[in-house]
Amino acid sequence: ITVRDLNFSYAGTGDYALKDLNFDIAAGQTVALVGRSGSGKSTFAALLNRFYDYSEGRIEVDGVDIRDYELFSFRQNIGIVTQHVNLFNDTIAANIAYGTPNATIEQIRAAADDAFATQFIESFPEGFDTQMGENGVKLSGGQKQRLAIARTLLKNTPILLLDEATSALDNESERFIQIALDRFMENRSTLVIAHRLSTVINADLILVMDKGQVIEQGTHAELLAQNGYYTKLYEQDFE
Ligand code: ATP
Ligand code: MG
Repeated sequence: ITVRDLNFSYAGTGDYALKDLNFDIAAGQTVALVGRSGSGKSTFAALLNRFYDYSEGRIEVDGVDIRDYELFSFRQNIGIVTQHVNLFNDTIAANIAYGTPNATIEQIRAAADDAFATQFIESFPEGFDTQMGENGVKLSGGQKQRLAIARTLLKNTPILLLDEATSALDNESERFIQIALDRFMENRSTLVIAHRLSTVINADLILVMDKGQVIEQGTHAELLAQNGYYTKLYEQDFE
């Protein structure tokens, strides 16, 4: 993933939400975006997923501007886990298989296992056939997120986009989610909007954002050695 001279402003706003972004995410690397609320982290994730079109600069994947890919096939290559989990009024199995319609039940179960979701799914009398949504079971935030991770594991994409949640997760599900994600990130190009220190420390590259710009970059150790903005964020636990 190559980002060059990228500027972006939301329609109707005069301000740049992203300004002068330049960085690369090599195949298999994990890049973490950190920065205070409103610094532009989710905006970049939205551009990479082509929720918005940018007009200045470019984002390339495998040397091709992402705007030149057919949207559907491009999205087939990106797995996303965010705070906002979209679940549908259908069975748990169908929700996991959303995005991979030809998946077998064995594949769905394997993905649920890897996302630490099987145990709570099987605690419902109808297991994977449990109906979700208005007339179905209500899930906790952590359970929903594990279903989203299972869905992404099943999709098995080369690019992974994580906009991490901090709230609404108890410590245990957070720990499970982290284990599931760490395993999954190993062989993928991962962009993670990181609130958890563990993710940040292990990233190959950390981009520190402020007001839409990358103001510092490096590894955790390099950034701490600079004793600048990142060090302040770190001392305040990234909040
Ligand atoms: P947080 O840590 O709170 O999630 P963030 O770094 O993800 O923050 P963004 O959501 O990318 O921040 O927001 C960057 C800037 O763009 C903010 O000033 C925000 O108000 C603005 N913004 C975000 N979404 C929109 C939108 N849909 N329309 C207009 N402005 C937006
Ligand atoms: Mg955000």
